[in-house]
Amino acid sequence: MTEQATSETAPEITTEFTEIEMRCVPCNASWSAPVARRVNVATHPDARLGILLKTMHRTACPLCKTPKEIDTIFDYYDPERKLVVQVRPSWEIHAGGGEDWYWARYEDLVLKYANYDVRVDVVFGFDEMIEKYLGGQEAVKVAQREWRARREQAGSGQPPEGPGTDDVRNA
Ligand SMILES: [Zn+2]
Repeated sequence: MTEQATSETAPEITTEFTEIEMRCVPCNASWSAPVARRVNVATHPDARLGILLKTMHRTACPLCKTPKEIDTIFDYYDPERKLVVQVRPSWEIHAGGGEDWYWARYEDLVLKYANYDVRVDVVFGFDEMIEKYLGGQEAVKVAQREWRARREQAGSGQPPEGPGTDDVRNA
């Protein structure tokens, strides 16, 4: 009964994007890049591909074209699996926090989604996300094939490696 009540009062877990200011160290250029704060993979399915192909949250300097990974934290929500995974930068777990850091972030996430009928977890980096929740290297190969097929159909307007953050947002 309480479950019914909470699922009616809690707002839908929806996809949210924002912009982040980037700066290139060598040439001092600055630009803004799109980042996901939260992704509902039912409405934005390319987020899954963007993680598997590691093309999401990547940007490049508009002047010297140096690629840059965007250091960000976002929640990946899969309504079908009733699952929320917070994806955090991989350096965090190597920076010395270890298990304590994991459990502290996990507790925060439990509280954040306390009103939802979902299980939660925290991962550090796309690799851990892929291994733990997206099907591992087998799924990566399938994603690569899927992306190649889509590019062939859609033409060369699609980025070669996989969907970037903007492609995930606009799909
Ligand atoms: Zn640059």
